[in-house]
Amino acid sequence: MLLVIEHAYAELGLAPGASVAQVKAAWRRLVAQWHPDRNPAPGALARMQRINTAYETIRLGPDGTESPAPAADAEPAARPLRRRMRLSLEEAAAGCLKPLRGQRSEPCAACDGQGELRRPAWYGWLSSTAPCSACAGRGRLARGYRHTVRIPPGARAGDRLQAHTPAGALELQIELAPHPLFTLDEDGTLRCEMPVDGFAWMAERWVEVPTLSGLQQMRLRRAHRSYRLRGQGFPDRGGVRGDCVVTIEPRFPESLSAEQESLLERLSAAGAAPLDDWQRRLRAWERRRA
Ligand SMILES: [Zn+2]
Repeated sequence: MLLVIEHAYAELGLAPGASVAQVKAAWRRLVAQWHPDRNPAPGALARMQRINTAYETIRLGPDGTESPAPAADAEPAARPLRRRMRLSLEEAAAGCLKPLRGQRSEPCAACDGQGELRRPAWYGWLSSTAPCSACAGRGRLARGYRHTVRIPPGARAGDRLQAHTPAGALELQIELAPHPLFTLDEDGTLRCEMPVDGFAWMAERWVEVPTLSGLQQMRLRRAHRSYRLRGQGFPDRGGVRGDCVVTIEPRFPESLSAEQESLLERLSAAGAAPLDDWQRRLRAWERRRA
């Protein structure tokens, strides 16, 4: 669990905007006070973890790596770590759990995060310090973690979600993967362009149409190329789903069998498409030309 940045400073007993040097000093002092190896209090371990979490929240830079100390001293507050997260339309619509992997940096246990070890004094020589070999003198060790984030239903491309990982606050930038069947409008309308058999369309047959929740049956209507499936679109922030608009493209075979030709001949002869208005306009235009 990670903290918002103001809480992180408060945990270290600092005001937001404290310098990196102040943060480091406060953290060292608190580690010395609360390290469970030194402090037998029952809450010491939990307190120590909170201190480290707060320190990491402040310390981690935008790309998750520690800033070099001199530059960091000039920069009072750390920005949250950012990561892109790509979702399928189905995942984004329904919400999902996504695994995250990352690394966090922890104080080195061998040297208590100091980066150096005190050598024992020999034969009356003054004691001295040596770099800690466990962390190569850095005072910190990288450790991998796995974390699961919950993406709420209705996430859109460009949305930024706050996640709290073992390595600190993480800002997830949502991307939506292109879908093989659907496109998504700004207003949440889901669109699908679907070829259908032209004869099936004329015969007003039932066809299968895709929706985000699976295939559905839909009846074709000769008078319609566009069909609105209410409540089958993408959810808004409140979870209310928009519509799915299916636009059909009737397709006809390029060559017909002799039987199909003769059937079409009969259909065409009996044709009674309502073209009166068009015919009237056509004749009027022709008369004016003459
Ligand atoms: Zn060490």
